[in-house]
Amino acid sequence: MTSPVLPSHGRARPLGLAQVSLTGGFWGSRQAVNATATLAHCESWMERLGWLANFDRVADGTTGPDRPGWSFSDSEVYKLLEALAWESARSGDPEAEAAIKRLTARVARAQDPDGYLNTCFGHAGQPPRYSDLEMGHELYNTGHLLQAAVARLRTRGEDDLVRVARRAADHVCRVFGPDGPAGICGHPEIEVGLAEFGRALAEERYVEQARLFLDRRGHGTLRDIPLGRAYFQDDVPVREAPVWRGHAVRALYLAAAAVDVAVERGDDELLRAVERQWERSVARRTYLTGGMGSRHQDEGFGEDWELPPDRAYCETCAGVASIMVSWRLHLATGDVRYTDLIERTLYNVMATSPSADGRAFFYANPLHQRVPGRPAGPDEVSPRAEAGVRAAWFDVSCCPTNVARTLASLHGYLATTDDEGLQIHQYAPCEIRAELPGGRPAAVDVETAYPASGAVRVRIVADAPAPWTLALRVPAWAAGATLTDSGRTRPVEPGLARVRRAFRAGDEIVLHLPVEPRFTWPDPRIDAVRGCVAVERGPEVLCVESRDLPDPGGFDSLVVDPRSVPQAVPDGALVRGRTLPLAEPSWPYPAGPADPAEGGEWFDVLLRPYHEWARRGPSGMRIFLPVSPEHRAVPLEGSVPGE
Ligand SMILES: [Zn+2]
Repeated sequence: MTSPVLPSHGRARPLGLAQVSLTGGFWGSRQAVNATATLAHCESWMERLGWLANFDRVADGTTGPDRPGWSFSDSEVYKLLEALAWESARSGDPEAEAAIKRLTARVARAQDPDGYLNTCFGHAGQPPRYSDLEMGHELYNTGHLLQAAVARLRTRGEDDLVRVARRAADHVCRVFGPDGPAGICGHPEIEVGLAEFGRALAEERYVEQARLFLDRRGHGTLRDIPLGRAYFQDDVPVREAPVWRGHAVRALYLAAAAVDVAVERGDDELLRAVERQWERSVARRTYLTGGMGSRHQDEGFGEDWELPPDRAYCETCAGVASIMVSWRLHLATGDVRYTDLIERTLYNVMATSPSADGRAFFYANPLHQRVPGRPAGPDEVSPRAEAGVRAAWFDVSCCPTNVARTLASLHGYLATTDDEGLQIHQYAPCEIRAELPGGRPAAVDVETAYPASGAVRVRIVADAPAPWTLALRVPAWAAGATLTDSGRTRPVEPGLARVRRAFRAGDEIVLHLPVEPRFTWPDPRIDAVRGCVAVERGPEVLCVESRDLPDPGGFDSLVVDPRSVPQAVPDGALVRGRTLPLAEPSWPYPAGPADPAEGGEWFDVLLRPYHEWARRGPSGMRIFLPVSPEHRAVPLEGSVPGE
């Protein structure tokens, strides 16, 4: 079966990628742009910057100290190969297949006779192999090679890329096995790569090597660095850690691997540890967008409640990694809180990053941009992650290929099956041709304009004489949702709404999710946005862009009236707001409250989806809007309608 993640058991089973296809809509169009633009865009940048030629130089024996790219640039080639493998299987695009062959040939030539494969270490003019486990990313690169090979194995079977990956994995197992040095990689990834590679080949020893790496971590195995060992999660063993901390992508790739190993080993203690970390990190260290990472200094999680909107890092890769963890936890437990978070992250991190043409990306995803970014040219490499505009490529360019591989396999994250039936978690126009135990078909077509509309129409396309259960996820925000079946409508609660019967082809079940815009309040312990509200519409977080204000100069003093009900408009929502008439201070700390309760004309403030921000050009942007001073006593639990 073809799927990025295939646990040997669990409460929910992923569908094979061949069993689901997106047929358009919000995600279908993004997947199409990924296929037609992003994949070639990534390859051309790696060629242009010499990241691909690094493989040729190893093969030709012409390496030296002048190698272009960071030590992890090989991983971008592997992530692109993974994306191409999913895409080739999805669409049968001959160009994707040709690109795989082209890239694989160059990668294969660079492999040393003993299986070691890396363009930054171990050759003439380079540092010795594994001489910088803290920051050298050698095993990290190999982990991405293994994930690319998994995509190939599950879509085409054994080929040159798989053979290269197997030799590289065997080399890792020989060097770092139980009798080898107690080394681990500063950037987790080899663990998740080995675990899935072991599953794909049904070779337990690779899963065992992943377990070994996991258990070695957290004991001060790596040298200390100025950022501290929490940066690479070597401060506390993974099964003892109460919360995610340090570099967000590292923490989340490690957590994903921990779920894989826990499931394969029946290690419930380890699984429960990751669930606990998820619970506390989501409750206290996650942004409204689903974004993770509050600090730029170490691209890391902050302390509990440390969630500044303007300094939010929320790396796109951390969004991808969060989806990886939540998906694995969902498959293990069947709990839809995980697929709820996946939805939030998909619409507000994944969808935000790529430009409409698929050739520029956000790296950091802050919730507040004070000053419009500087326009970035299509030939410019952005030196900084925090640009305020989407950039064609980055000096550290991990995010574009992560977006590419996720979008290429996105249809694999829409639905699951269990012994009872089919569960649909993400709503998009699609065709699902699942099979239940005993070969019973669970085949449906989904029609919806979600998230613009909350109506999700599920049509059964195959008769089933025996009853099965169709379960539709009702998001936590969807209070007041209803389900219509056989002409009868009933209210459904957040969780899974189930319909069980013997379905006939042509039967229709319609889920109605209330996607009217609504106010959302932050927990008051999130100091940075205390006294503010946000507006959401269905799964989308909305934002104000300074360019949409009648006076963009009043952006910093905008306040809103949370007693008014946000009004739905095609673009997003309108709320009542005004800009406070504030004088320029010589010292911004007066003796008493400075915000005037009156003054400034009230007007309708337009909010648009956050994922759309800066698409019309650089702009100021904010998600959390300060409540107007005279309205600050409104109850925290909800808005009071009308005036
Ligand atoms: Zn990234």
